[in-house]
Amino acid sequence: MEKVNYQKKLEKTLEALERNHEVPRLLLHSCCGPCSSYVLEYLSRYFEITVYYFNPNIYPPEEYAFREQEQKRLLSNMPSPHPLHFLPAAYHPEDYFAAVKGMEDLPEKSDRCRVCFTLRLEETAKVAKEQGFDYFTTTLSLSPHKNAELLNEIGGTLAEQYGVSYLFSDFKKKNGFKRSTELSAQYGMYRQDYCGCLFSYRARHDETT
Ligand code: SF4
Repeated sequence: MEKVNYQKKLEKTLEALERNHEVPRLLLHSCCGPCSSYVLEYLSRYFEITVYYFNPNIYPPEEYAFREQEQKRLLSNMPSPHPLHFLPAAYHPEDYFAAVKGMEDLPEKSDRCRVCFTLRLEETAKVAKEQGFDYFTTTLSLSPHKNAELLNEIGGTLAEQYGVSYLFSDFKKKNGFKRSTELSAQYGMYRQDYCGCLFSYRARHDETT
């Protein structure tokens, strides 16, 4: 089957919005400030964005709180053509551990990550539906380590299930990741060196010791 170019797909959606002078409301799941920086810079021309920092996977709790604080700091410092908002989420790491039970020893990019993506995207889809957003999406495809095809596949399935549009995207395209490193430097943001969960923390730690 032919590979979908999700960046092209996104560009088509954005062109249509511009043509119709529409500024829809987007619920943007974000894993951290640095990854959201490029996405916010790019999409805030087209959407009124609410950032949803829903990440029960993040370990330890201090890291979770620090990433959240950096996310909020970015939102209050970043200029934007349309209003930017922050939607707080509950932090229940036990839900993540229950979801990935039995997958603790799998490496990054395995089925554990599929479950982790689904957990975070499903909650985002639910909230988007409940609160009447026009679209939902995630910053996760910005990372060169994240499978954009898988994220879009999960997003598309949830869109049908919850009846709210998924904004198909692959933010690593068009030098998105590089731009996020420039913006992180510009805003003096903390950039973590592991994906987020206890298992990625351990893997990173083992690599460096
Ligand atoms: S490595 Fe990252 S995406 Fe995979 S399970 Fe851990 S936090 Fe989730």
